[in-house]
Amino acid sequence: MTYVVAEPCIGTKDHACVDVCPVECFYEGEDMLYIHPEECIDCGACVPECPVAAIFEESDVPEQWRDFIAKNAEPFKGGGELPKAPTREKWETQKQDPSSEAAKYYQKYPPKE
Ligand code: SF4
Ligand code: SF4
Repeated sequence: MTYVVAEPCIGTKDHACVDVCPVECFYEGEDMLYIHPEECIDCGACVPECPVAAIFEESDVPEQWRDFIAKNAEPFKGGGELPKAPTREKWETQKQDPSSEAAKYYQKYPPKE
């Protein structure tokens, strides 16, 4: 079992979850953060931190987001790696610079209303 990031992260991606993960298993995806399924120790600490309730234990992922189980696992198949997700503080600092990847992210994936 593992925990999984689902659709509500897209456009939010505030990195609050990163700060509490004891094994640093959140990775920076282009559209959202991803949890490495083999590194997650199923502690559940990230769940209450997420402001948009995007994180679920694998067996509890709502029906409409079941595809996100495979989506979280996909980037790590065949030894592929994404960069580790930065802490919330680093992400917030980065966002201040309009030319940063963080600032560009919100242009591409505007926060949902
Ligand atoms: S359940 Fe625990 S180990 Fe898994 S991603 Fe969340 S905080 Fe990290
Ligand atoms: S706390 Fe939730 S919305 Fe924020 S980055 Fe983590 S999964 Fe995405």
